[in-house]
Amino acid sequence: MSASTIVTRFAPSPTGFLHIGGARTALFNWLFARHHGGKYLLRIEDTDRARSTPEAIEAILDGLSWLGISGDGEPHFQSQYEARHAEVALQLIERGAAYRCYLTQEELARRREEAQAQKKPFRITSEWRDRSDAPSPDAPFVVRLKAPREGETVIEDMVQGRVVVQNAELDDFVLLRSDGTPTYMLAVVVDDHDMGVTHVIRGDDHLNNAFRQLVIVRAMGWPEPTYGHIPLIHGADGAKLSKRHGALGVDAYRDEMGILPEALSNYLLRLGWGHGDDEIISREQAVEWFDIDHVGKSPSRFDTKKLENLNGHYIRHAEDSRLAVLVAARRGGLEAEQLALLEQAMPELKARARDLNELSANADFLFVARPLSLDDKAAALLDGDARALLGRVHETLSGVSEWTHDGTESAVKALAEAEGLKLGKLAQPLRAALTGRATSPGIFDVLVLLGQDESLARIADQLDPSTVTLHLKERN
Ligand code: GLU
Repeated sequence: MSASTIVTRFAPSPTGFLHIGGARTALFNWLFARHHGGKYLLRIEDTDRARSTPEAIEAILDGLSWLGISGDGEPHFQSQYEARHAEVALQLIERGAAYRCYLTQEELARRREEAQAQKKPFRITSEWRDRSDAPSPDAPFVVRLKAPREGETVIEDMVQGRVVVQNAELDDFVLLRSDGTPTYMLAVVVDDHDMGVTHVIRGDDHLNNAFRQLVIVRAMGWPEPTYGHIPLIHGADGAKLSKRHGALGVDAYRDEMGILPEALSNYLLRLGWGHGDDEIISREQAVEWFDIDHVGKSPSRFDTKKLENLNGHYIRHAEDSRLAVLVAARRGGLEAEQLALLEQAMPELKARARDLNELSANADFLFVARPLSLDDKAAALLDGDARALLGRVHETLSGVSEWTHDGTESAVKALAEAEGLKLGKLAQPLRAALTGRATSPGIFDVLVLLGQDESLARIADQLDPSTVTLHLKERN
């Protein structure tokens, strides 16, 4: 297999958002192509006009681009190739591999009911299979495949291994509908061939289709693609992933859950594929290591906790300026000065956030207006004793001339020592006064970020007014 001959594709139907399972299929196709120095193409399967929407196409392109796995070159749109699909259907008739079937809907329905009444599985046996006449010159027809009835069809699947189907189980499925439009089964085979696809990697819900598609490929005498059917993703409860498991569209992970693309991508990669015990795998490493043979056969379970932990890792390693921009966008935009402050605070903020929502919440204290409203835990930290202590902290900090991390730290530490208190006894009420919360970045970083005036004013807001006036006077 020469490296340059490998062509993979991702072929979503644009009937909804970019599903998390679809994103993983796309990622595996992308990685397989990159690993082998091949090509990865995108084909939008928009032949179902009623269900395909421009918004869904947009969401798919957008989601793929966000994950860094857009197709090579322009995307293909299946609907543009309908004439070609019809042409191949006619060629299949000429080759004796397909036929015009004139069975009416009513006739088919009647036969289906009969089979049901006799509790027999329904399989089309059309008397038109071996005829070449027509009931009348303009009678409507569908084109059906003349599926083999004897023997078996074998697929050596890259993931599933050797899979065998008895040909008697294949039916004469429709290739071209009576209005001349192709079915999925035909369109996918023609497009894969015309796009030069060598490896079809997709969800294992398509394994049954592969046998039917292979019959078409063989009837046309085209090169057979190598298949890799990857197991679907299940929810934490083991059931097939569905709406009730929460977010399913890639956009929800990005917009609502605040997940970074590299985290989602790393998570999806590890879902069903592994490289030893490695959890954190960069794109470069993934391209180097990826191998479809090591995709497991059993469904993987989606584990939101794991995704959040990975996301926390990637947040801690992301550029401060990038995170500041992402957080600013979540906050509806920030002034240049505020953005700069956010970026300055980022090394502290990002140390303790698992997603961009938490990151943004951690930054709240930078932007809240005075007087701060305290959450319950912060309010509890500011009981009577604590408020009295806070007054002395205010006094001490008023006198600090070098407003730096170390400068404020040594002043507060000296005060703690003089009072015979542990640092925490002063730091916790101080944190509550400065941020309105019981947790925050390091308290001396908070002081520096807020600056002396704002810090003193926030502390003063929590004090008994008479003491404040006194301190402010002293400072002036
Ligand atoms: N359009 C199909 C789907 O979204 C995939 C077709 C394929 O990969 O062969 O399920």
